Amino acid sequence: FIRIRDVYKSYGAVSVLNGISLDVAQGEVVVLCGPSGCGKSTLLRCINGLESINRGSISVGGRDVESANPDALQQIRLSTGFVFQNFNLFPHMTALENITIAPRKILGVPPRAATEQGRKLLEQVGMEEKADVYPFQLSGGQRQRVAIARALAMNPTLMLFDEPTSALDPEMREEVLQVIRKVHHEHNMTMVVVTHEIGFAKSVASRAMLLDAGQIVEEAPARAFFENPAEERTRRFLRAII
Ligand code: ATP
Ligand code: MG
Repeated sequence: FIRIRDVYKSYGAVSVLNGISLDVAQGEVVVLCGPSGCGKSTLLRCINGLESINRGSISVGGRDVESANPDALQQIRLSTGFVFQNFNLFPHMTALENITIAPRKILGVPPRAATEQGRKLLEQVGMEEKADVYPFQLSGGQRQRVAIARALAMNPTLMLFDEPTSALDPEMREEVLQVIRKVHHEHNMTMVVVTHEIGFAKSVASRAMLLDAGQIVEEAPARAFFENPAEERTRRFLRAII
C-alpha cells in the first residue's frame, strides 16, 4: 500500500533521510521508533506529501506522491489521517464541531449527515458524552481521542500517528492506545505509528523498525524486534527507552 524507495531528504545542508526503503501492505500496522531527531516525523510528512523529497520515490495506494499534481496531492492528503503528539484541535470549536468541520467544508457533506457521522465517531472513541464540550474542558487523552475521530471523519485509507501518546500521562496513554487498536481492527486500516510504546507495538504491529540518522537500522516482526533485536544499536536504543 505504501512503497518507499531509496528516499533522501535534506533541509539545506542537514540531511535527514538517507536512503529509506520500506513497504507497508494494505491493512498492516508498522511501528517506527528511533532517537529524537532521527527523522521519524519527517518520514511521515514525506509519506503524505507535506514535505517533498530530494531523491527516490514514494507511492501511496498506487499513487506516486512525488509526481502528483496539486489535485492528486490533495487527494493523497485527504485520504491520509494524521494524528499528532499535540492534538491540534481547534480551540474555539466543540468536540463535535472539530470532527464535522472538514467533512462539511472540504467534502461538502450536508450538516445533518456530518453531525450524525460525527456522533457515531465520538461513540467509537468513547466520547459521545463530550460532543458539545470545548478542547480546554477535556483531558489530554480525551483530546487525543477526539483528534483520532476527527481524522477518521475524512474516511482515510491510511492513518499516520506521530507519537500519539507521548504528551500524555501514563493513565491516559492506554485509553488512546485502545482506541487506535480498535480503529485498526474495525477498519482494517493501514497504519504507520511512531511510538515507543512497546506493549502496544508488540500486540498491534506486524513489524517494527528502528530509524537512526535517517536510515533504517533494523526491521523485524514486532515481537522479535523488541524481544530479540539483532542489532547492537537496537539493543542500546531499547535499553534507553525502557
Ligand atoms: P523527535 O523524536 O524529537 O520528534 P524526529 O525523529 O521526529 O524527532 P524530525 O522531526 O524528523 O525528527 O527531524 C529530523 C531532523 O530534521 C532534525 O535534526 C530537525 O532539526 C530537522 N528538521 C525537521 N524539520 C525541519 C525543518 N522544517 N527545517 C529544518 N530542519 C528541520
Ligand atoms: Mg518527531
